[in-house]
Formats: sequence, C-alpha cells, structure tokens
Amino acid sequence: MPATEFSSTKDFAAEQAACDPFASFRERFHIPKKPDGSDCVYLCGHSLGLQPKSTREFVERELQEWARLGVDAHLHARNPWVPYHEILTDPVSRLVGALPTEVVVMNSLTVNLHLMMVSFYRPTPQRNKILIEANAFPSDQYAVKSQIQYHGYEPADSLIEIAPRPGETWIRTEDIEKRIAAEGEKIALVMIGGVNYYTGQAFDFSRITDAGHAKGCIVGFDMAHAAGNVPLKLHDWNVDFAVWCSYKYLNSGPGGIAGCFVHERHARDPKLPRFAGWWGHDKENRFRMQPDFHAISGAEGWQLSNPSILSAAALRASVDIFDEAKMERLRAKSETLTGYLEFLLDQKPSKRFSIITPRASAHRGAQLSLRVNANGRAICDALAKDGIICDWREPDIMRVAPVPLYNTFLDVHAFAEKFLAAIHR
Ligand SMILES: *Cc1c(COP(=O)(O)O)cnc(C)c1O
Repeated sequence: MPATEFSSTKDFAAEQAACDPFASFRERFHIPKKPDGSDCVYLCGHSLGLQPKSTREFVERELQEWARLGVDAHLHARNPWVPYHEILTDPVSRLVGALPTEVVVMNSLTVNLHLMMVSFYRPTPQRNKILIEANAFPSDQYAVKSQIQYHGYEPADSLIEIAPRPGETWIRTEDIEKRIAAEGEKIALVMIGGVNYYTGQAFDFSRITDAGHAKGCIVGFDMAHAAGNVPLKLHDWNVDFAVWCSYKYLNSGPGGIAGCFVHERHARDPKLPRFAGWWGHDKENRFRMQPDFHAISGAEGWQLSNPSILSAAALRASVDIFDEAKMERLRAKSETLTGYLEFLLDQKPSKRFSIITPRASAHRGAQLSLRVNANGRAICDALAKDGIICDWREPDIMRVAPVPLYNTFLDVHAFAEKFLAAIHR
C-alpha cells in the first residue's frame, strides 16, 4: 500500500486490522499481557520472537517419548531422534532460499559462525583481512577479531570495518563495492550482518557477494536479523556460507537451535578443513564408532554434536507457521506495516528523534531504529510501563519491529501515538 493511502486516524488502523489476512496467525501466538489482562503491544520480535501456542505440543511430544521410551526414542520415537533434525531441513531451506543439502540446524549462532570461519577464513600473509560492517553485533565483532588473532594476525591490521559516510546513518552498497574493488586482493573474507541489528539496514546480498567473488574473496552473512524477516535466496545469490539464530523472527524460543548454510559447491567437498564431531560423520556407519572421520556430504557434515531435540521440536512449531503463511506474503505485509510506522512518525517530526533505518523498503526489514535525543531511555521505559514493548540500545537508539505474523496496524498506531506524545510533551 503506498504511503499516500495511509491515514493517521485510529479508525484507519482499526479498518486495516479488521481486514488483515494474517489476523488468524496472531491468534496462534501467546501475546504477553498487561497487568489488566489486555494484550501488550509487543514490538520486540527482532530480539525474541513470541511463542507459538503450538510449541508446547511439539515439545511435550518429545518429553513424552523420552518418558515412554528412554534411550530407544533415538530410533523408535514417532519421530526418531537420530534423524530428527532432518525434519527441519526442507522448511528451513525454503526460508533461506537454499537446496536442502545446503542447510542444517545445529548449535547456536556464534558457535556456527566460528565453525564456518574455521572452514572459510583461511588467511595467508598476502590475503588475511576480514571486511565487516562497522557497528556489527558485538558477538560477531568478537568472533571475527578472535579468529584473526587465532591465526596470528592483528585486528588493527586485518579487520576492515566499513562505516556509513559522515552525516549518513547506513552504508551505501557502492561504498562496499568500491572498498572490495580497492582492497579485495588482501581480503580473505567478507562477513556482514545481513540485516544490521542496530540500524535495521538490509544489505544488498547479491551485489556484495558478486563484488567479493570478483576479487576472489569468500562471502558469508550473519542472517540473525534476516531469517524469517526478509526473503532470502542464499543459493541463487551464490553466497558461500551463512548462519542465523532462530529465536528472533523465527520464534523458536530463547537460545533456540541455530541454522547454517554452506553453498553446495563447498558443501560437497569433503576435503574442506573443518572441526569435526561424530554427528557430522557419514550416517551409514556413525555408530560403528570408527576412528577416522568421513564428513557427510552437504551442510550436515559440519555438525559436531547430537542436537537438542527439545529445541528442534520448538523450531518445528515455528516453521510450520511460516510454511503456511509464506514468506513472500509476509514480506508484503511487513513492508506495508513498517511503512505505516514510518508514515505515522513522519506526521509529527521533531528535532528530538530521527529514523536512522534506510527509507527504502528494499534496504530494510521489519525494524525501524529511532535515534532519540536526551531522555530516550526514559521514554522507552515509560512505554514499557504502558505495555508497549520495544528495546533500547545505548547510547541513543530505540528499536521498534512490527512483525507481520503477530503485529497489527493497531499495535503500530498505539506505539506511534504514545511515543509521539512523549516526544512532544
Ligand atoms: C542475535 C545475534 C547474535 C547472538 O548470538 P548467539 O550466539 O545466538 O547468542 C549474534 N550475532 C548477531 C548478528 C545477532 O543478531
């Protein structure tokens, strides 16, 4: 819906909510409640997605199988645990635009990022740099810096952090391309947070991948804020590897099992160096307990441990919902809903706040990041007291994410009304 068709009245929000094609999906989530029992306005799906009501059943089923069968559930549960993670392969590959053999769910995110860098950050004296976006998620900064040091190099020499131009708040694709063109021969790895957690910028995955490959760099993305938020085509974009967590837009619950993508041209190469564990070993004879490691062909060959079945069960509840909702349709609502939030905020501008997220919907997901001067933290806390949940990132950023699966035009309207009243008080 173009912004010209929006209106700032509450009636408009109510009309839109009434014809929301995803209204029945909202019903499938537990929405946190205010003390009076009414629904909170939960705009924090970028941090922890809400719990699908069906999650309990999926987890309870496995608890029952454990109670009923003990160790035999590995082979004889209704969904045997040894191949349990395979149930997730197809739906997760659809979500990230990959071939089934290219994805695996395992571990948690930062662990997977390290495992991928073990295979794909292979620095040499001539080519040892990592290019990352400035202000990357702290865990990613620590991960890349520690990898650089682990290989005997110094982050001061080997880490390139690419920042927005002075006076701008997000990074232009052409600036990334130029930097890679200029220094690409020295860059071993381009590793970018697909949607930046702080600014909400969604990067141009295809152009960045092409630019990196043109200079012989490996290109990987941390899709923590992208998976379940924006449609992805990891295979077609030719990305070398990607990792993501599933507790943000993918609603798998706190610390939920994470995901990993390895493009098939690498995934089928058993010679790629990696850290190995028994779960990545050839399935045919994993239980023969032989001393030599033979990697499973495909992303599964990077598994180390047998996965948490309870966590994988919780993720099943979520991917079923995504399969039904369809990512492309969700994205259409997401663009409209985030555009509506932007429209409402633009109606009452103030020097006290600005939107630092890109204005074009192609360059962002569901999140708008607001730079709020002076007492922004107090405003965020006051909103929370009113049951309007967003989050605060020091020093001055409020992150607000209308999630298309469970947020409505009325949620967005309620937030904008309270936020703007506090700003103009
Ligand atoms: C959320 C997030 C993390 C969190 O890492 P965990 O290993 O899941 O604790 C790391 N990186 C990015 C980019 C994130 O958005």
